[in-house]
Amino acid sequence: MTIAFFLDRDGTLNVEKGYIRNVQDLELIPGVAQAIRRLNEAGIMAILTTNQTGAARGFYDLGHIHALNERLQELLKQEADAHLDAVYYCPHLEKGIVPEFAVACRCRKPEPGMIQQALARFPDIDLSRSYVLGDKASDVAFGKRAGCKSVLLKTGYGQRVLDGKYQSLPEPPDFVFEDMPQAVSCILQQPGMLSLSETL
Ligand SMILES: [Mg+2]
Ligand SMILES: [Zn+2]
Repeated sequence: MTIAFFLDRDGTLNVEKGYIRNVQDLELIPGVAQAIRRLNEAGIMAILTTNQTGAARGFYDLGHIHALNERLQELLKQEADAHLDAVYYCPHLEKGIVPEFAVACRCRKPEPGMIQQALARFPDIDLSRSYVLGDKASDVAFGKRAGCKSVLLKTGYGQRVLDGKYQSLPEPPDFVFEDMPQAVSCILQQPGMLSLSETL
């Protein structure tokens, strides 16, 4: 069986800047590339799961979302020779203005569709031993619904969520950490993870 980390993008891996219209503005949070490298070396899958409503809102097209995700992979490689094993995104928003994407889908977090897609492609993933990392209440709910452990990070919107100023948490997260690199360090030290990470 394989353990996966399902990673949100904005506010989790890269600095939250709202809708990123210029690819060059995508900037990694310090330590994220090295943390993903540790997952790569431990044999833990690093899988991006991100809501990207910019397409449905008419801000940009799918090509731009792909370009942003490619830049993310490039920065990870440059900084720490790290990589994401798979990338899933939801471009939908029911109330969007671009008809193609203005649909009620099953992949918009907190719906668990993106994790189900990953599981169909990588059936070895053990969801009960896997983690969802994100900075919003919808990330926490996404993890719970998929049967994973949920981790709320204080980066991005996370601190505001904890303060009750942004979204409301349906259930408390299983863990709260300062940022994604701290989450990876702490989780890899847990007893159940040792056999996977002892080569580090
Ligand atoms: Mg986010
Ligand atoms: Zn969707």
